[in-house]
Amino acid sequence: MDVVPVDDVDGWTYPPFAGKVDDRFIWGRGAIDDKSRVLAIFEAVEQALRDGVRPARTVYLAFGHDEEIFGTGGAARMAQRLRESEVRARLLLDEGGVITTGVADGIDVPVATIMVGEKGFATVRLSVSDVGGHSSMPGRETAVGRLARAVARIQDHPFPLRLTPVAVDMLRRVREFVSEPRRTLMGLATTAGPLVARALAARPQTEALVRTTTAPTMIRGGVKPNVLPQRAEAFVNFRILSGDSVADVLTHCRKVVRDKTVSIELDGTASEPSPDPAAGPDFELIADLARELVPGVAVTVGVVPGATDSRFYDDLAATRCNFAPIVMDAADLERFHGTDERISRVDYARLIRFNRLLIDRLAHLG
Ligand SMILES: [Zn+2]
Repeated sequence: MDVVPVDDVDGWTYPPFAGKVDDRFIWGRGAIDDKSRVLAIFEAVEQALRDGVRPARTVYLAFGHDEEIFGTGGAARMAQRLRESEVRARLLLDEGGVITTGVADGIDVPVATIMVGEKGFATVRLSVSDVGGHSSMPGRETAVGRLARAVARIQDHPFPLRLTPVAVDMLRRVREFVSEPRRTLMGLATTAGPLVARALAARPQTEALVRTTTAPTMIRGGVKPNVLPQRAEAFVNFRILSGDSVADVLTHCRKVVRDKTVSIELDGTASEPSPDPAAGPDFELIADLARELVPGVAVTVGVVPGATDSRFYDDLAATRCNFAPIVMDAADLERFHGTDERISRVDYARLIRFNRLLIDRLAHLG
């Protein structure tokens, strides 16, 4: 299983690959994302085998080795194999949503977000070339100046707000757990979508639900303060909402930059958003497990803000759930892909239990 790299080893409480286990936590890169899930599945399968469970449905375990770098050598090929064997899955379960506490505004109970699709991903590279020369005779503008204006135009022209059906469903499901005045506002989701979308866009965490997001992430150019740059480039990362596409992102960039001297192209691998994410027929199977494992939890739907391996299997399964019952607060959420990644022993045990219960339920499905 692959994990993301560690770039601040010194900032960690324990060495990131030591696999330290103390009284409360299992520490290390991958403790959440995603080794805990793999090991919990193995634990659950071994338990079930020991107990003689014989699932009525076939269970496939598919572990990729390259999820963090787009999964083209792992999940893509496993999905292809399943497709060739004409496997039609009833349920696809993968990483993505967790249970959060104190993160969702105005909700006092823990919130289980079972993700049912994902946003698309694209990074656009903007570049400008110039003849260069001495900075004492710069002409009207330099490559750095032109590039800076292009980035500013993209930043100043965000994608339009849109309340997708899955966002409406999300609001409907959490509404009963929310206090006023939010409760009333959420009730307007179907009749006054634009108003609700604007309210959600007020915070970055919820803005991601209602638009394709724009994030200029890297910029570079020039070699010396008194030399005209011959080249300048910038990268802008987009997370694409269902309904928009990778091609739309490029078209949008070209339209708002309005400068033929700025070249605009995709950088690296891009992925399209799930076409029409919605809770599938077996959504309640996973929702019930969440309620059973964390009593009082509010269960809702969501969309993974980034790409997961599930996109390769999406067309093979009737119900897609990206979820694990790991309970996290806002600080915990910063740990994965960050410093001091860890999972509590309680969460890890719950994760094993979740997988075991799921296998038991599958044993009785028709
Ligand atoms: Zn990851």
